[in-house]
Amino acid sequence: MGKQEDFVLRALEERDVRFVRLWFTDVLGSLKSVAVAPAELEGAFSEGIGFDGSAIEGFTRVFESDMLAKPDPSTFQILPWRSSDGPATARMFCDIEMPDGSPSFADPRHVLKRALGRAAEQGFTFYTHPEIEFYLFKDLPGVGEEPVPVDRSGYFDHTAQSEGADFRREAITMLEAMGISVEFSHHEAGPGQQEIDLRYADALSTADNIMTFRTVIREVALSQGIWASFMPKPFTTHPGSGMHTHLSLFEGDENAFYEAGAEYQLSRTGRAFIAGVLRHAGEISVVTNQWVNSYKRMMFGGEAPSYVCWGHNNRSAMIRVPMYKPMKGQSTRVELRTIDAACNPYLAYAAVLAAGLKGVEHGYEMPAEAEDDVWSLSERERTSLGIAPLPRNLNEAITIAEESELLAETLGEQVFDFLLRNKRQEWDEYRGQVSAFERDRMLPII
Ligand code: GLU
Ligand code: MG
Ligand code: MG
Repeated sequence: MGKQEDFVLRALEERDVRFVRLWFTDVLGSLKSVAVAPAELEGAFSEGIGFDGSAIEGFTRVFESDMLAKPDPSTFQILPWRSSDGPATARMFCDIEMPDGSPSFADPRHVLKRALGRAAEQGFTFYTHPEIEFYLFKDLPGVGEEPVPVDRSGYFDHTAQSEGADFRREAITMLEAMGISVEFSHHEAGPGQQEIDLRYADALSTADNIMTFRTVIREVALSQGIWASFMPKPFTTHPGSGMHTHLSLFEGDENAFYEAGAEYQLSRTGRAFIAGVLRHAGEISVVTNQWVNSYKRMMFGGEAPSYVCWGHNNRSAMIRVPMYKPMKGQSTRVELRTIDAACNPYLAYAAVLAAGLKGVEHGYEMPAEAEDDVWSLSERERTSLGIAPLPRNLNEAITIAEESELLAETLGEQVFDFLLRNKRQEWDEYRGQVSAFERDRMLPII
């Protein structure tokens, strides 16, 4: 038993923990949880806890259903919302293993670990800093009803005694209690829309933190009698919720994107990484934006991207290179604006990293910067500038992904096949839906 495992076993006693939840994530990004008694944990650390993987989206075929969840002791935390008085409940993220102890190829956490391992072979650590947007509604709407936001405020509004501000304070206190540092928070542009930005961390910790974040936000909302949602585009007429992520590579303690005196202080590595993410953006769209609804966020302009381009202070661009003061070399990073908060963060970060590294390995050149508001250009102007559209719907994203070697290699055959089959099915169900839009337009006239 290692040091971290010992620490966990001691903490269980000291904190009077009665339940330990073992967490893992399915291929579509839903959190799964199995609660075990503390007495089971020693065995869980050495052998794992068995479960039937065939019941989990994308995990196994029925004939090979036995799997093991092995807790990662470095992720041990007490769950504050289950532990305010009396005995406590804790959680740990798990790695999923096959009965022979090999890692499960269907485990999204393993997919990300494998991608990070490839980066490490080239000397790189991948850091991420997500800006997570979501809506707060008065309640979960009934079937077919529009959700009602908790307020009518807008971007950066400071409203006295608003539900949003109280909510953010409680949610941030809870996140901090679980070891997740928050850097900024504010009201976003839509009514009831919030943003909370996490401090940068290595991509595996960030992905774990995002899974925890989504759970904490939902729990705090429930405790306040409201409903939180990360749906990318809940309203036609209000902005969607994205999860812009700032990306950087480090080599040891040095920021590999930084070069003093270079344009925007961007090193060759930084430029090639951006070029990789731009060139492969279409192929990885099915994981950065995995739902039918994701594509509705990215079609109305506003501040969500629709085109493959970059700019330094251009919020219509897919990648934004922020300007820094010369002293701030270590914080050089780029902001990827496609990702939404309803993604599976393990798969999305694995795919983005693989795309960027492809650029670095092959020395891709960055295209010219998009200076203008790309939405205000005509289709012809965009074509002549070489600015391609991102996939315009899930169908286009799937069709591009099916041909992508990069995505197949990064996700592994099992996740790749399951995901594309599942998404094809979502699209087919969706395209058969008769909507209010059609009825409202047609019934009065025909
Ligand atoms: N809500 C916008 C999006 O969906 C982003 C707004 C912002 O720039 O923070 O990407
Ligand atoms: Mg925002
Ligand atoms: Mg942003």
